[in-house]
Amino acid sequence: MAITPTPSSSGSPDSVGPTPAATSQPGQDFATRAIHAGQEFEPGTGAVVPPIFMTSTFVQDGIGNFRGGYEYARGGNPTRDSLQELLASLEGGLAAYSFASGLAAEDTLLRAILKPGDHVVMGNDVYGGTHRLVNRVFVPWGVTLSTVEMTDLDAVRAELAATQPKVLWLETPSNPLMKVSDIAALAELGHSVGALVVVDNTFASPYLQQPLSLGADAVVHSTTKYLGGHSDVLGGAVILDSAELAEKVGFLQFGVGAVSSPFDAWLTVRGIKTLAVRVEKHSANALAIAERLVGHPAVSAVHYPGLPGHPGHELASRQMRAYGGMLSLQLSGGPAAARAFAESTHLFQLAESLGGVESLIGYPTEMTHASVKGTELAVPEDLVRLSVGIEGVGDLVDDLVTALDGLDAQR
Ligand SMILES: *Cc1c(COP(=O)(O)O)cnc(C)c1O
Repeated sequence: MAITPTPSSSGSPDSVGPTPAATSQPGQDFATRAIHAGQEFEPGTGAVVPPIFMTSTFVQDGIGNFRGGYEYARGGNPTRDSLQELLASLEGGLAAYSFASGLAAEDTLLRAILKPGDHVVMGNDVYGGTHRLVNRVFVPWGVTLSTVEMTDLDAVRAELAATQPKVLWLETPSNPLMKVSDIAALAELGHSVGALVVVDNTFASPYLQQPLSLGADAVVHSTTKYLGGHSDVLGGAVILDSAELAEKVGFLQFGVGAVSSPFDAWLTVRGIKTLAVRVEKHSANALAIAERLVGHPAVSAVHYPGLPGHPGHELASRQMRAYGGMLSLQLSGGPAAARAFAESTHLFQLAESLGGVESLIGYPTEMTHASVKGTELAVPEDLVRLSVGIEGVGDLVDDLVTALDGLDAQR
């Protein structure tokens, strides 16, 4: 069966498909684009919300004569295209590609760039699954990997000079220590040795920062988190501003096939419409919680870039619109207290993941970061991570303080 390349509407030069008239202009406010980019009303009925195109294939008006360019849904589906156009607009990219998960997006991007013999430099606190993907899938295939402290530009410069990598991969704020690294400076350093600079923008979301505008070459997302925003869909995305790389990623999206389903794409679009208001509230709640927990006797450290004492505060204030909804705490009572605390909150539910409207608590050592235990990416064992939701902040503070006071009583 002959299948033409993706009819992505988002600018792949291979594109054979439709480019729906954009309902939003590039200069418009972020919140406006979050609601309108790629979201034309349905022309046949006037339905304000474009329907979910739950179809695997498209009728041809004659052999090779496609309606709107659509042929087979792995290559292109209007619902997926509407999400991709929206993501490209929000990150200020030329093209976006959506996938079945964040890791599927990362895998596809890395396949488009790397070949055996190439080297990857990544932050020493990237998402554990990203490290595992490179370390256990790409390294056995012949790629080499090293990690570096991304907040130390001298260390990065030395590592780049020594290894001449093909990819420099960073995440800011980082998980779970909320370290902030300088995207513009790192992009310049990466480019000085010919590396492609990739930013995992999952924690910040495009509402808080847009790495392409700071010089990065590619942005990846787990759209499972803030973009979807409601803990009800798994997804990922790659956003690019080079036509050449877009062509390669677009081909692999089609040729490897880890695409997002139309329903998942639709749910993600629905989530993104409220991204701006959600992230404002996530950020305000997290800041209030961080301020309240500093100095609590059961807490030895609060890691939140919105606190003036945080080492990345000044940089975050320049680089980000607000400080986001993620924070982590270290407990005075050590690992046992951290575990007990993570198991004793009520509104903060014990679960992996982040970025949803509901607050979550996690113990990274045994949960999100279990795969990096014992490596240089291991995290402190007295550390608890909070994904602060958009519930009433008074209730959230009460929940945390009650649990922390309870730990004191146990001691
Ligand atoms: C969750 C996450 C990923 C992986 O995304 P999935 O959708 O779970 O595959 C990648 N990077 C970061 C920062 C994440 O939080």
